[in-house]
Amino acid sequence: MYDPIAERIYEISQQLPSNVRLIAVSKYVSVEAMRQAYRAGIRDFGESRVQEAQIKQKQLSDLPDITWHLIGHLQSNKSRKAIELFDWIHSVDSLNLAQRLDQIADEIGKIPQVCLQVKVLPDENKYGWSIPELLTDLSELDRCQHIQIRGLMTIAPLDLTIEQTLQVFQEINHLGDRIRQQTWLNIHISELSMGMSGDYHLAIQAGSTMIRLGQVIFGERPHEN
Ligand SMILES: *Cc1c(COP(=O)(O)O)cnc(C)c1O
Repeated sequence: MYDPIAERIYEISQQLPSNVRLIAVSKYVSVEAMRQAYRAGIRDFGESRVQEAQIKQKQLSDLPDITWHLIGHLQSNKSRKAIELFDWIHSVDSLNLAQRLDQIADEIGKIPQVCLQVKVLPDENKYGWSIPELLTDLSELDRCQHIQIRGLMTIAPLDLTIEQTLQVFQEINHLGDRIRQQTWLNIHISELSMGMSGDYHLAIQAGSTMIRLGQVIFGERPHEN
């Protein structure tokens, strides 16, 4: 039987450098389509909403080796649910949220892997630190001992040229270098979560280690979030 999802996954996977992790973004995607992706080898799924992920996790509970990634904005009052449901939270976008997650992770004794969401250009997407803001908050973030800060995440604005998009990703890579140079920090940035269906080639060129692909795997979404 022709399986377009498997076909696309094989095609993309073949082109990926071995250090790049493919996260299949399954927001608004049916669990049947997710099973197809699973059969084609996908073990990392990205969801943007806590509640949708909770429903799908129940329906897919027979697939125990999935790693779940939260990629959408998290309201602080859903922090507990988010830590319970997700292994990775890519969208930690403020000091407040980081501290809240840290507190709850301590309470429930589960350490989430997190990325800090950065916006390179002002206001282009609402959430996340600007680069100077993040550098300022690093010492406070460093005190969050119950979350494991593993990487930086960014979403490139849609209206940029290829050159500008590449530059955005390169600035994130450079920011990772700058943070690593602060060797007294406990924070170890080893991951760059960047690249979506329209720009993942550029992100990989700029050193991405985690790409978040939705439409290029599952086809067009019915509505955008
Ligand atoms: C929806 C979404 C993606 C996937 O986008 P596609 O264009 O479908 O690949 C990746 N990252 C985030 C944060 C998203 O919200």
